[in-house]
Amino acid sequence: MPTGEYDPDAVESKWHQQWLDDETYAYPDDATDPNTTFAIDTPPPTVSGSLHWGHVYGSILQDIVARFERMQGNDVFYPFGYDDNGIASERLTESELGIRHQDFDRYEFQEKCREVCADYEAEFTEKMQAMGTSIDWNSTYQTISPDVQRVSQLSFIDLYDKGREYRKKAPAIWCPDCETAISQVETEDHEEQSHFNDIAFELVESGREPDSDAVTDADYEYPTPTHPGDDIVISTTRPELIPACVSMFVHPDDDRNAHLVGGTARVPLFGHEVPIYEDDRVDQEKGTGVVMCCTFGDQTDIEWYQAHDLDLRVAIDESATMTDLAGDYEGMSTEEAREAIVEDIDDAEQLRDRWAIDHVVQVHERDDVPVEYRVTEQWYVDVLDKREEYLEAGREMDWFPEKMFTRYEHWIDGLEWDWCISRQRSSGIPFPVWYCADCDHEIIAEKADLPVDPLSDEPPVDSCPKCGHDELVPETDVFDTWATSSLTPLINAGWDWDEEAEAFTMERPEIYPMDLRPQGHDIISFWLFHTVIKCYEHTGEVPFDTTMINGMVLDENREKMSKSKGNVVDPDAVLDEYPVDAARFWAAGSAIGDDLPYQEKGLRAGEKLIRKLWNASKLVDSLAPEPVDRPDDLAALDRWLLAELDATIADITALLATREFSKARDSLRTFFWGTFCDDYLEIAKQRLDEGDDLSAVYTLRTAHERFLKLFAPLLSHVTEEIYRDMYDADESVHQSAWPEPLGIDADSEGGAAAMAVVGALRTYKSDQQLPLNAELPAIEVYGPIEGFADDISGVMHVDELTVLDSEPEVESVIADISLDYSKVGPEYGSAVSDIENGIEAGKYELVDDELHVADKELSPDFFEVNRERRYAGDGEMLEAGDAIVIVSEA
Ligand SMILES: [Zn+2]
Ligand SMILES: [Zn+2]
Repeated sequence: MPTGEYDPDAVESKWHQQWLDDETYAYPDDATDPNTTFAIDTPPPTVSGSLHWGHVYGSILQDIVARFERMQGNDVFYPFGYDDNGIASERLTESELGIRHQDFDRYEFQEKCREVCADYEAEFTEKMQAMGTSIDWNSTYQTISPDVQRVSQLSFIDLYDKGREYRKKAPAIWCPDCETAISQVETEDHEEQSHFNDIAFELVESGREPDSDAVTDADYEYPTPTHPGDDIVISTTRPELIPACVSMFVHPDDDRNAHLVGGTARVPLFGHEVPIYEDDRVDQEKGTGVVMCCTFGDQTDIEWYQAHDLDLRVAIDESATMTDLAGDYEGMSTEEAREAIVEDIDDAEQLRDRWAIDHVVQVHERDDVPVEYRVTEQWYVDVLDKREEYLEAGREMDWFPEKMFTRYEHWIDGLEWDWCISRQRSSGIPFPVWYCADCDHEIIAEKADLPVDPLSDEPPVDSCPKCGHDELVPETDVFDTWATSSLTPLINAGWDWDEEAEAFTMERPEIYPMDLRPQGHDIISFWLFHTVIKCYEHTGEVPFDTTMINGMVLDENREKMSKSKGNVVDPDAVLDEYPVDAARFWAAGSAIGDDLPYQEKGLRAGEKLIRKLWNASKLVDSLAPEPVDRPDDLAALDRWLLAELDATIADITALLATREFSKARDSLRTFFWGTFCDDYLEIAKQRLDEGDDLSAVYTLRTAHERFLKLFAPLLSHVTEEIYRDMYDADESVHQSAWPEPLGIDADSEGGAAAMAVVGALRTYKSDQQLPLNAELPAIEVYGPIEGFADDISGVMHVDELTVLDSEPEVESVIADISLDYSKVGPEYGSAVSDIENGIEAGKYELVDDELHVADKELSPDFFEVNRERRYAGDGEMLEAGDAIVIVSEA
């Protein structure tokens, strides 16, 4: 039996070990029915450092769902993955070992990545196990493992075969710090301080004669360039791109500058001549209406480059260093060149103005380094051509909360690029591709041979099938990490290619499509979108029935936690101090999708509830140590409690099924603490103290066991401890069945009134310093307690209980009058004490809402009348909720 104080440290670590030893949460080998499996596609944490609150919080919510669904009778598939390929783990390795990947042979560097990741993965495992998450530790995967490499390469080949991938030499988004192409989803807007520079280009010749009727120069800061040698002023935040300038543009409707179109201008400092074109992407309201186009400053430059077939001038290399095209500035970083070029333009008297601004630049989300655009050969997955279809695919899932679908929608609306999946990095999954050295024909590996590394494995043919040339060059790029993590449903389902059947197969077909994708809202565009589109293309099915999106953990002041602000709360430190169950209670206090502030009071409330559950269990165990069959004549109050519990179960079941954690938690806690512990348990204790009462024993044990099950998904440790102790030593509460309604009828309103009457009589006896079993000769009750009268009389030892048909005569009398001193003080000053004395002595009158006292007339907003109901007849009146009890004088 539960004894002594609850010791969460000992209990929690005991069950962590026991659950692992017993494989309590293992997915059964013989599960085959998709209707009775519940598969969760858990987010594999990126191996880029330690677990933070986001992981802990997210994994608690997932675990609540897993435990709830398991108790619904489902075979729950609840895996754990480690995302250990890609830039994140490379960068972790570099910073951990103080090295740069460029300084190592590729395989040597990969080896180092594996070693560093292995340490972090062991730590992840240990921490997740130390939280007792109900993960199936037989179902784990690493995204760099050979199995997953095979799945990832199969996916590449399948999309290639389906015509959904292409290789193209074109401008791509580039991170000069990571020295690789990246995709649109990896860019982020950053506000940065910078300068606008008004720089004069020299007009060499106009396209035609200027129109003398055009708008006068009076409206403009700079005169309209009309003659050779005149200034054409452009504004730029990136003067270091001037050596890469390839043309200038004006808007087709810009009358003022129309004559420039077809002419040329000379670039300052560098002296090359560039053509002037028109294009409606120019914002003619900005500055002089003339802009320069460089290869490349932004997305519009790329569009112009493609639309007008412009030259390519590369002034910035892959590491954001100026190239020889930049002349004297070669070898400088872009920042250095920016300053140096502005200075020299100023010296050449071609800087017309310069002012500071805050503006938005696109950066790589991993390192906040501004991106560049470079013409490089990359692999892309087609996305833009199927936007509508992918939006529809997203719509097929149930979203918890529903509002998060708009984030998916917005991401698709804002898509401007196909998905670039090739990375110029060392440690990732290789492309299973070789190229003909002569005709560049793409040679794809055989599916049966996967995984392959073209750098060390032989291509499937000896010579080019197209031209017969025998030199084949391996692809050196690796996959984008999301190209692999977007396959987690297929990795989990054991998707593979069956060479004999010439078809894709699944080892665990019953889990696909998976029931739930839980994840944070910050990776809807990264992970959810890419998983939906890839799995959809491979299988023709949307990979999830539902998706559950959790918010972020904020600090106590609802600010985002960040290392730079120093407000990061370390989950390890918190879990040292608080039980895991308390953290679970706190985490469940969120409405799904909303951010949740880290608050100690939330954890303390969890601790209190754990203690309450423990102490109540001790009491139940002492009052009702042995199980009994349900007696035929259950007392009305017992029937009422069990029926109310039925209603609560229905309520909580529905709430958990729609992932409304906080509502489920609060509803359960309120019913347990208020109705069961404060009211019912006290009554039952009294009944059993006074003798045998099978009805009470049955009800206590039945309700208590049900409470343990209802609390189990939430407070997974303390419930296991008590359940094994009191109900079933051999079976985990987490493998037990969720309670079904008992189907007992009871008068809900009457029971509530009866409980209130008993409560009022208990308080009365205690106020009168009477023992609880003191006889009360007679009481009268006005309230809907028919059917409960015998129970009330029995419990409260009432000789004669009369139920009144009509409300006893109760008069409403003034108990006192309180003044609003913030108003009375300023208005009546020294007269306030006369007013107070008048009220005190009862020398006042209420006349139409006004208070007449001490010769003053106070309007209603100066005071408040507090009334009391007083019974005019014999005996003492007790108020019991909506019911009234009259206790006759003894
Ligand atoms: Zn980067
Ligand atoms: Zn060839």
